[in-house]
Amino acid sequence: MHDFEYRHGELACENLPISRIAKEVGTPCYVYSYATLVRHYQVFDGAFQNVPHIVAYAVKANSNLAILRLMAREGSGADIVSGGELYRALKAGIPPSKIVFAGVGKSREEIRDALATDILMLNVESSAELRVIDEVAAEMGRRARVALRINPDIDPKTHPYISTGLKKSKFGISADRALDEYKLATSLRHIDVVGVHKHIGSQLTDIAPFVDALKKILVLVETLQRHGANIRYINIGGGLGITYSDEVPPLPHEFAVAISPLVRDLKSVLIMEPGRVIVGNAGILVTRVLYTKAGEDKHFVIVDAGMNDLIRPSLYGAYHEIRPVYEVPNAKTRTVDVVGPVCESSDFLAKDRAMPEVKAGDLLAVMSAGAYGFTMASNYNSRPRVPEVLVKGGEMHVIRSREEYGDLVRGETIPEFLR
Ligand SMILES: *Cc1c(COP(=O)(O)O)cnc(C)c1O
Repeated sequence: MHDFEYRHGELACENLPISRIAKEVGTPCYVYSYATLVRHYQVFDGAFQNVPHIVAYAVKANSNLAILRLMAREGSGADIVSGGELYRALKAGIPPSKIVFAGVGKSREEIRDALATDILMLNVESSAELRVIDEVAAEMGRRARVALRINPDIDPKTHPYISTGLKKSKFGISADRALDEYKLATSLRHIDVVGVHKHIGSQLTDIAPFVDALKKILVLVETLQRHGANIRYINIGGGLGITYSDEVPPLPHEFAVAISPLVRDLKSVLIMEPGRVIVGNAGILVTRVLYTKAGEDKHFVIVDAGMNDLIRPSLYGAYHEIRPVYEVPNAKTRTVDVVGPVCESSDFLAKDRAMPEVKAGDLLAVMSAGAYGFTMASNYNSRPRVPEVLVKGGEMHVIRSREEYGDLVRGETIPEFLR
């Protein structure tokens, strides 16, 4: 469910016509719905009301400060994967007591910052990292709370690039090694193991892999407890999928019905790290048709947004629905490639897509672009990054302005010998 609907033949976000936003900030631009974001958060959080839990919104899905502030106001914590995300989360007002830090390559500086701000825990991905955390904590005269990130070797049946819980994956510690890691952790004087963590992948549309992975984790928790561990947090990660085209992912309520009974009697706090399911369908990318072009055996619609603005189609072959902002009754359909201006053949937003016929100047909405859209944007081809707009009711708020050419060269210098 989202708040992008046609009204009087024109696509609107909540009560605001998309064309008004395009006129105000130009194209391309990202547009997010406040009502959708709040509803998605509340539905997810509410589904787990019967178990002690923390929702730690996955910052990498959409890390705009305004979005993070909105999450903070709803009571969300944050799942972060870098020092930069820690900076953003704190700046947005997310309490450190609800921040968890994952990632296979945390630097000493990042670990120090995390300990200095006293975040809830670090999710540890290797014994080498465990030792470094211990060293840094010792230097600071602190103890570090950690969760062991377990790789349960479960196939999430999603795109290989967004699968993270298989044996061959770089993430986490294998279930077989978990007890040894735990023993290592207890031998380190500045480490407290307070939880276990898993995150098996993204855009999962089936409940079974979540349940299978959690069951595996719980067996392990039992083993650890028998060895004296005090596991107070069970973090099941994120990964719940959304509808991009015809997927039918479980609703948060169905997800909760499958998960809650498994953890209800454990006296531990359930942590979840949803990203895509909160923000994915709460945002669109608005773009304008620059040209249409009939190739030898293909028709191209060339738009002003490219792979640098939304890389998911190029990177994962991901599907995003593309809608005309103005409905054209009885429009002829044509099968087209929707492509951007970037000088790469992989620069496309849609391939062989049957769409109502469009012409230069038309506005298009690339749907379901709220997650891993702007956060994966780059300046490739020296294209300034596009603005982000938050709509609430009939009002629009620019929450990130369009970059200027000066922003592209900020920090660059020509050395003396070239002057
Ligand atoms: C990316 C990520 C998430 C969020 O995944 P979604 O599919 O967006 O819900 C959660 N936890 C970890 C550790 C991640 O890396």
